[in-house]
Order: sequence, then structure tokens, then C-alpha cells
Amino acid sequence: MTDGEIIGALQRGRADGADCLWLGGGEPTLRKDIFRIAAMGRRLGYTRVKLQTNGMMLSYPGYALRCADAGISEVAFSMKGAVATTHDRIARTEGCFDLMVAGVERARETGLALEGDLFITASNAAELPAMVSLGVAWGMRSFRVWLLSGVDATRDDPEVRAEVPRMRDVVPRLVAAMKAHAHLGADFLMSLHTPACVLPEAQHGALFDAAAFGMRVVNPGGHAFDLADSPMEGGTFLPGCAACRHRPRCNGLRPDYLARHGAEEFQPVP
Ligand code: SF4
Repeated sequence: MTDGEIIGALQRGRADGADCLWLGGGEPTLRKDIFRIAAMGRRLGYTRVKLQTNGMMLSYPGYALRCADAGISEVAFSMKGAVATTHDRIARTEGCFDLMVAGVERARETGLALEGDLFITASNAAELPAMVSLGVAWGMRSFRVWLLSGVDATRDDPEVRAEVPRMRDVVPRLVAAMKAHAHLGADFLMSLHTPACVLPEAQHGALFDAAAFGMRVVNPGGHAFDLADSPMEGGTFLPGCAACRHRPRCNGLRPDYLARHGAEEFQPVP
């Protein structure tokens, strides 16, 4: 994004009442001006500035301190596995798990709040509970679970389609992780792509309400949209959904998921 696009987006966000700035990507730490952007956000009045990152840059001495000095209040680490072999394979970068671990350590020493963004595929779903346990041991107290989507330009890539995880493989792992760390609260983990009809009632603290979340996404070129309107978050409803009691707060289903795995897992809740 250009300087002008960034300044315009930050100003519009504040004018619309936003007070939390989320710097994501791609990989935002690839920008040399990331500290200047974070500081600009704080000057404009954002009270929280979150950096969503693979964590590799944070492994360098002084980087976490520069984050804190720029006003970044929390760091969300993108975790792709509970062990280096899985994480590095999915990230396609050898050694990046170890760098992330070093980055977590430096961020924690600096006093930045730590969060986990768990990126779940068909081939790492079994590691989900271990990923949460690892993050908790590192000091993370808040997690978001993102299921791989084939909605974007890669939708015709058979490799991506094969890795779209199935709800019935993910949900038991989600439940196990939430039960294992129930002391963190009913909503310490947010699962972005699992509708209420596939989650046991006891785990509904993990439900994600995209509209209530109120996030505006701004991309390079200045293109902006509300997260709730993104096909990444769902948007497709089945004929039976009209009778479901969760319909008013449901984000719907992702079209790429339905194309890959069908609709039989989704039964309306009377
Ligand atoms: S509205 Fe449809 S997708 Fe949403 S919880 Fe109900 S049955 Fe599931």
C-alpha cells in the first residue's frame, strides 16, 4: 500500500469509530516502515495496535522493542503446526518455526501481549490441540482458528482444494483444545469458519460473529470491504438455514467448502 492509501485508511477508520488497528498481510514485517505506520496509528488515536506476523523478524534483537516503542500493543503469531516439520512444510520455509519460537520469546520478554492465529489445513488438523497447548505455554491467552480456504485466486489449485480441512475432522480437535484450557474462559478461542450447527453448545463461546466483530479490511489499492461481506467468511446459506435458530448471527458457509466437502454436515438447529 502507498503512504497515501495507508494514511487515508487510518483516518477513515478513526472517523468511523475504529479504535483497534490490525496490521496484517501478507507479512507486514516485510515493510521497513511498519513502525512508522504503527506510530501513526497511535497518534491518530487507535488504542490497540495488533501486529499479525509469522514472527520471524521478531527473532532479531531489538525488533520487539521497536514494536513496543512504536505503540504496537499485541502480536498475533501465525502458527501452522505444533512441530517444526509441520509448520515449516506448510509455510514452505525451512527454519521458520524456530525463528517464530525465538520471536515469541523476545516479544514476551518485551511485555507485548501474545496471541495465536492457528492456520488449519487437512494435514495439520490433528495438531490443533497441541498448537493451542504450545501457545498457552508460551504465554498466549487468545487464539483464532482459521480454516484454509480455496475462495481466492487459488481456488482451482487441486493442492489447495485437497488441503481444505473438513469440519468433522476439525471440530473434535477444537473441542479437545477448549476443554483442556477451559480455565482461560469460554471465549479464549475464536473459530472463524465453523457455524453453530457443527459446534457442541458447550463450545459456542468459540463462535465468530463477523458482523459484530466489525472489521473493515483495506487492501493495496485502497480497496476496502467489511469482513462480514467477504466470501472468506461464508455468505452461502442452505435452504434449511431459514428455519435454524442460529441464522440471525450465522455467517453462512463458504462456497469453496461446499464445493469440496458438500453440505451434509450442516443441519439446521430447531
Ligand atoms: S444457519 Fe445454516 S449454516 Fe448457520 S448454523 Fe444454522 S444450519 Fe448451520
